[in-house]
Amino acid sequence: MNKAITLECTNCRTRVPLDRRVAGCPACGEVMLEARYDLDQINVEEWLKTLRGRREGLWRYKEVLPIYNPDNIISMGEGGTPLLRSRALASMLGLKNLYIKDERQGPTASFKDRQAAVAVSALKEIGVDSVVVASTGNVAIAYAAYCARAGIKLWAFFPSLTPGDKMREAALYGAEVIKITGTYDQTKELAARFARRQGIFLDRGIKSVAAIEAMKTIAYEIAEQLGDSLAEGRHWVTPDWFLQGVSGGMGPIGVGKGFREMLDFGLVDRMPRLANIQSTGCAPMVQAFRRGQRIAIPVDDPQTIIATLATGNPGRAYELLYDYVQQYGGGFFDASDEEAFNAIRILARSEGISVEPATGVTFAGLFKMVQSGVIKPDDVVVVNCSGHTMPVETQILGERWQRSIDLSERANIPNVPQEGIVSALDQIEGQVRRVVVIEDNADSARLIKRMLQAGGALEVALAHDGASGLKLVRQMLPDMVITDLMMPDVDGFEVIDTMKADPDLCTIPIVVISAKELTARERARLNEQVKLLLQKGSAISEDVIDTLVHDLE
Ligand SMILES: *Cc1c(COP(=O)(O)O)cnc(C)c1O
Ligand SMILES: [Zn+2]
Repeated sequence: MNKAITLECTNCRTRVPLDRRVAGCPACGEVMLEARYDLDQINVEEWLKTLRGRREGLWRYKEVLPIYNPDNIISMGEGGTPLLRSRALASMLGLKNLYIKDERQGPTASFKDRQAAVAVSALKEIGVDSVVVASTGNVAIAYAAYCARAGIKLWAFFPSLTPGDKMREAALYGAEVIKITGTYDQTKELAARFARRQGIFLDRGIKSVAAIEAMKTIAYEIAEQLGDSLAEGRHWVTPDWFLQGVSGGMGPIGVGKGFREMLDFGLVDRMPRLANIQSTGCAPMVQAFRRGQRIAIPVDDPQTIIATLATGNPGRAYELLYDYVQQYGGGFFDASDEEAFNAIRILARSEGISVEPATGVTFAGLFKMVQSGVIKPDDVVVVNCSGHTMPVETQILGERWQRSIDLSERANIPNVPQEGIVSALDQIEGQVRRVVVIEDNADSARLIKRMLQAGGALEVALAHDGASGLKLVRQMLPDMVITDLMMPDVDGFEVIDTMKADPDLCTIPIVVISAKELTARERARLNEQVKLLLQKGSAISEDVIDTLVHDLE
């Protein structure tokens, strides 16, 4: 099929033929141009049929990607990442349709693999053999891998905030690594100057057509995968929300463009709301949005250790996102580094998914949006989950992540090996405290159990209704009881009343975790009887769990 691709100015809508060396709109100078495909040439019905026979991965949408000759495609299995339906986390947040787009599952473990695959293929198509990129880490790693495969030389400029392991990985792929003591914005400027002076091709990042086109494949995949999950593959589905941790804004702009295109094709029937979540220490978009302004004031001195999200000057990207949010909904939110680390631990324990801090910011944002009621229980929510946690830094894990047993000579164990081991094990077991959790939603129960256990040495027994809960409490005489209120037959109120009336059980502290809207009377009554009263969404906070565990020790 002959592709007809043109570039359209995002400002004045002037169209020019696709030329990858074009740096801006010839009419108005605008730097961001969007690719337009000749929709007439694509028969949607036919295309959907063809897609069914195609392999997973972003090239399955090749008709709407800016590469002419398939021989130029450099591919390592990018895209085609799973859309995981959350159970435990969703139930704790009270969400019915929470999906995690697992972008860690790419060749270099972030969604920048998509960008690198399309951008490096485009470089090959125009015969470029050397390229300069500025990056806070993930872009350069992905480019380094794809450039290695394409035989293209890469000059990677990093701000000094970038974790050393990330720079080393880029170096391993053979990139020239240049570390700049300065901010990311300064690093970009220096990289541009270097490229100009040396006459080397400069990757234009968010301003390059390849980057936005690559990111839009996330949207295509989400619509197709949600269609499978929610409509049994009968049609494609738009989520109510797409959430992402945002630095330069390439991801959400690309995803927005993808849905716009699918809407024009008739593949979906509406647009998603975009939630752009920034790190509080570097949140120029959030600040501008709160002021109601379409122009962001750059943050000159980002106060975050999350390098991936340290774009201080979003420039034109914020205007485009602002316009999107005005037209289709969504917003700009922020979360602190602390909240991000907290979210990383919760996500890892509840879903088995370990992410880098930038994605911790995204999930922390999700928690806040649910708690503040911006996201509603029935909303279909998709979270861009990108970037694997390597290395796991001490800020994320804290100090208490291991228990040690010393079997060395210094511990004198060789003489009495068995006893030594037994007493060491006793020592560990001696710290165990027992908790009974009474909760009829099995997913919530499991998550509460996992969080308690992660917080300390705990034995946690679960009961799924009030009657068996009371039985367990009598058997175990636990150090604490955590109960839901709304349960069939014997509900939480009855559990509490029964325990308080029983001399053996009346001193056991009780914690209530419930999604129920309480009346003033119920609240007053509970306040007298229980140690702590938690709304379900707030139980997701690790501080709360920490306090509970601490009280047990
Ligand atoms: C690049 C990146 C971001 C920021 O993406 P933008 O869309 O460019 O703002 C967020 N999280 C991770 C893991 C990233 O690699
Ligand atoms: Zn223009």
